[in-house]
Amino acid sequence: MSLVKRDQKHIWHPLTQHKIKQEMLPIKKAKGVILTDEEGKEYIDGISSWYTAVYGHCNTYITNKVHQQMQQLDQVVFSGFTHEPAIKLAEALVEILPSKQQKIFFNDNGSTATEIGIKIALQYHYNQHNDRKVMLAFEEAFHGDTFGAMSVSDLSVYNGAFQDHFIKVERIPVPNGNNTQEILNKIEKIHQNTPLAGFIYEPLVQGAAAMKMHDVEGLNQVLKFCREKDIILVADEVMTGFGKTGEYFASHYLEEQPDVVCMSKALTAGLLPMGATSCTQEVFDAFYDEDIAKGLFHGHTYTANPLACTAALAGIELLTSEEIQQNIKKINEQHLAFDDRVKNHSLVESTRCIGTIYALDLAVENSRYGNLRDKIYNYFMSNGIYLRPLGKTIYIACPYVINKEELEKIYDCILNLLENFDEI
Ligand SMILES: *Cc1c(COP(=O)(O)O)cnc(C)c1O
Repeated sequence: MSLVKRDQKHIWHPLTQHKIKQEMLPIKKAKGVILTDEEGKEYIDGISSWYTAVYGHCNTYITNKVHQQMQQLDQVVFSGFTHEPAIKLAEALVEILPSKQQKIFFNDNGSTATEIGIKIALQYHYNQHNDRKVMLAFEEAFHGDTFGAMSVSDLSVYNGAFQDHFIKVERIPVPNGNNTQEILNKIEKIHQNTPLAGFIYEPLVQGAAAMKMHDVEGLNQVLKFCREKDIILVADEVMTGFGKTGEYFASHYLEEQPDVVCMSKALTAGLLPMGATSCTQEVFDAFYDEDIAKGLFHGHTYTANPLACTAALAGIELLTSEEIQQNIKKINEQHLAFDDRVKNHSLVESTRCIGTIYALDLAVENSRYGNLRDKIYNYFMSNGIYLRPLGKTIYIACPYVINKEELEKIYDCILNLLENFDEI
């Protein structure tokens, strides 16, 4: 039986209505920026496999380190024990995180990272007997699929079955450059009626909202306002972290620094699943007490898995290298040059770019998106380019190791799509 058929027999895929989407494409190997399917057809991974494999797939610098580590210490309980890979990783993270981040709480994925960020914000106030139980979040936010994360997400259109169980959330529009005062007034009003515990936000880029980008100064004002009201700032850098925006973290573009940072995706360079939630000394101190109940009683079995820590550490070594930093700059320059070529095309409504992320909205009617999205996806795939359009948005979030020619192939494919739009 073919892999496609065997897959159908026992596997339930994520984010999939199986009656509509029946056949999955078997991928046999991945190296650098290339994915290869069962038949040997190659695809350039234009989205770093959901923003994870930013140093390229099966990067031997990383796999060698993990290989060594797995012969020494594979897994150990992280409550009562500690180990060097976790300690070294925490030290390395504190070096590159926004200033004031001091403590690292390891976990399993992006949803657990934000879930813990939310729990920290709520318990920070609970421990101090503040009656603050409501979270603030952006419209069109996405923070993951567990209950807390789902609650603060606004894009959870298929979550009807769970809505009665969500935590309390108030929502504000994203800063677009013209609405800062309006947002501040809204927060003030919400806070008067229902005191806010924390504000969770994807700094500057909302990935799942089709790479929606924020006004830097507007976001700064919002953060400053929240800080003055002791609303814990939880930056969800699961997508934006580790160089994608051109800085190590998107928060580095902002004056007002977060109290808590959520990380995953590129944290472990696409090799192993892991998340982490960091916080400031001040936040940590609100949990530090003789009273055991004031501690953060959250823990996952695989917390700080030594192999995942080793992959993450190797990834950070690459991220901070001159070579990768140069690559990130070059990709940004190439994106901007491409933007000049494409932005005035009649089928292009708008474009935006930050660091290695480039997004383009098509000028097509809303009613056409659904069907069109699949056609565009298939067009890219048949041309050996792996991009996942979201609605009318085509975006690139390529690995930092992509070379000039490979990136040009992605651009050419997009240009060809625009030229042959009526025929796809
Ligand atoms: C992907 C993502 C998450 C969820 O991460 P998972 O590892 O898929 O659970 C949370 N927040 C943001 C901003 C993300 O992009």
